[in-house]
Amino acid sequence: MQHIPRFLAGTSPVTIERVETLLLDLPTIRPHQLSMATMNGQTLMLVRLRCSDGTVGVGEGTTIGGLAYGEESPEGMKLAIDTYFAPLLLGADASHVPALMARLGKAIHGNRFAKCAVETALFDALGQRTGLPVSELLGGRVRDRLPVAWTLASGDTAKDIDEAERMLAQRRHRIFKLKIGRRSVAQDVAHVAAIKKALGERGVVRVDVNMAWSELQARRGLAGLVDAGCELVEQPVASAEALARLKGQFQIAVMADESLTGPVSAFALARVAGADVFAVKTEQSGGLQAAQQVAAIADAGGIELYGGTMLEGAVGTIAAAHAFATFRNLQWGTELFGPLLLTEEILAEPLRYQDFELTVPSGPGLGLRLDEDRVQFFRRDKQQPSVFAATVAAPAID
Ligand SMILES: [Mg+2]
Repeated sequence: MQHIPRFLAGTSPVTIERVETLLLDLPTIRPHQLSMATMNGQTLMLVRLRCSDGTVGVGEGTTIGGLAYGEESPEGMKLAIDTYFAPLLLGADASHVPALMARLGKAIHGNRFAKCAVETALFDALGQRTGLPVSELLGGRVRDRLPVAWTLASGDTAKDIDEAERMLAQRRHRIFKLKIGRRSVAQDVAHVAAIKKALGERGVVRVDVNMAWSELQARRGLAGLVDAGCELVEQPVASAEALARLKGQFQIAVMADESLTGPVSAFALARVAGADVFAVKTEQSGGLQAAQQVAAIADAGGIELYGGTMLEGAVGTIAAAHAFATFRNLQWGTELFGPLLLTEEILAEPLRYQDFELTVPSGPGLGLRLDEDRVQFFRRDKQQPSVFAATVAAPAID
């Protein structure tokens, strides 16, 4: 007879007794300039699920620049979970995570980021119940450490070079992703060339255009980026069709990011060989298991993999790290630097970034412990309204 673990076979299943959501507003170390928004702070939506056996799982939902990047916002996720997810979660069996997520998937359309946060909290609680890390619950990790790129996005070439030099000296990052697309193509290419020239062979340079170019601009841009020594361009154009047309025309890897919104879009892109690399994001994919499905589609289609970020804080970053640790291939490393962009720690013990890599925690669940005093301090509903007002500046129109 098939062995069924005791916590699954018991007569009284472990159920979810409480669903708590909260918004934390945290300042960033510097303004983070993207083609669509400048971030001066980050809002984390945390969801905590308290179960009948006393375990409490935590998950995180985060976006880039409020609603500037995607269709969900931290505030919207909180509302969706409080109003629509919570009634389905309360009293539900907490230990059969895929079954519960399938039920939520049927009842709730879209809301991928919120689903990712809830799934993370369920796996965190299950991990504490079983003593297993989330990566083991997801099928087993194949690596304990992940290379982490750093994004240079101050908007100033000299400042970016100084920042890259500091990261190299600290042995924290040697892969640098430059956010471009706000200025003219010629100015952007000159910015990339200057940084690559300063770093030489000590640092790898990649760019993210965040869909800002037309296909025509992208042709000029990609040619210039090859000459500048840039090895990869992320989502230069918005349309998946244009992305596919650009791929293979220049000696530079073309990576899909915004075009990837989960397994269905991943399959569509893979079918037309529409990118050299997929930037897999757990929230964009709709959860940790969905991210694994995207990775499997990439593997099957001969597409290489990169672990992307939605600039999550520690909880979302480590949830992604557990998922990426299970990927058979991860040829381009990750950009799981989100917590390093924040000035404030909300964990009892900080994450381990050293020798250009992030260590995936090995404790039960996510392997993290929140510093409750700091969580309470940064809660939006406890702040003076003016303290972190206007965390997102209006998009530049240049
Ligand atoms: Mg991107």
